[in-house]
Amino acid sequence: MKQLAETLAERIDQPAMLAQVQAWAAVNTGTANLDGLATQAAMLADAFSALPGAVELVEPAPVTAIAADGREFEKAHGQHMVLRVRPDAPRRFLFTGHMDTVFPADHPFQGQTWIDSETLNGPGLADMKGGLSVILHALTAFETLPEAAQVGYDVLVNSDEETGSLSSSALIETLAQGKYAALTYEPSALPDGTLAHARGGSGNYSLTVTGKSAHAGRNPLDGRNAIVAAATLAVRLKELQRSDISVNPAKIEGGAANNVVPDHAILRFNIRPKAPDAAERFVAEMNALLGEVRQSQEVDISVHGGITRPPKPVGARAQKLFDLVRDCGAVLGQHIDWQASGGVCDGNNIAATGVPVVDTMGVRGGKIHSPDEFMIVPSLSERAALSAFVLSRLSSGDTL
Ligand SMILES: [Zn+2]
Repeated sequence: MKQLAETLAERIDQPAMLAQVQAWAAVNTGTANLDGLATQAAMLADAFSALPGAVELVEPAPVTAIAADGREFEKAHGQHMVLRVRPDAPRRFLFTGHMDTVFPADHPFQGQTWIDSETLNGPGLADMKGGLSVILHALTAFETLPEAAQVGYDVLVNSDEETGSLSSSALIETLAQGKYAALTYEPSALPDGTLAHARGGSGNYSLTVTGKSAHAGRNPLDGRNAIVAAATLAVRLKELQRSDISVNPAKIEGGAANNVVPDHAILRFNIRPKAPDAAERFVAEMNALLGEVRQSQEVDISVHGGITRPPKPVGARAQKLFDLVRDCGAVLGQHIDWQASGGVCDGNNIAATGVPVVDTMGVRGGKIHSPDEFMIVPSLSERAALSAFVLSRLSSGDTL
């Protein structure tokens, strides 16, 4: 067992990984930067075509959002990369990552700086271009083993994870179907390699309130005040917060001049359910509240959005996958621990399909989503060896 782990570790090309990640992170891939994403997708398609199987760039699913004036508009997204290897194998796995970052093309944080000989600062290095290289090099090493022929896998690299995977969630769901297990390459929860375990969920809503305008002095009673209705909704939604769900009314837009009863308002809010039943209860309570406010304030309310990241509890099979990752780490001399996380990621969507997933298999690093984001460089090959070994175990008899 130890010999296999060491053989795999020896087959990982750390300098090649670093050069690759630096080249990828030099391309700005803010979720809205379609040019940058197209460049990145082409680089990824080229790199992943070194593996067996077919690489495809998949069009994003249509996504709409609500503008400040209440208009529903289509939001453009980049293509997603999918690689399918041995689609007819009886046991298949899913590997996922994202190519987008939270840094738009005009953000000042674009370059890379060495903090010390093992720590590199730069946009998207940890979150998660490092993780994409971990996927590629883990699979490259795995493909040198005879047991690779007995299993198959799909790799998905989406372009919109940082804004909720709205144009790729259906694709994630489809690719997760029938998979034995999934690994996602978000950076470790802590710089020491600690994994994220159970996760809460997340939902985003925009409520568009349409009232009736009137003169604030002449005939105010003829008006139906959309701002008052939106404010009422904000207060009442906040009251739906419980220990198992937080509710955050975030923004009210709309209104009119001081002498006009406003007929238009938009309330935007986020919810964070800790468990699936909390999410279901909230939706029922919200719908009852909307009915009540529609009636009492005589306004129209339309709902846009919903729960896009279902809560991710860790079931028995997922726990066995965590245990396997920890055991494989121990053989490689890596101490692996885990802790619950308040964040969300594509692991939430995969877990919702019932497929066991560990979603922080990417590099060790930290300070993500900030200009201090860093990647611990030796963790590139360390984590690639870990994934290759986990995969070899799952391909040669280990069960979940
Ligand atoms: Zn990420």
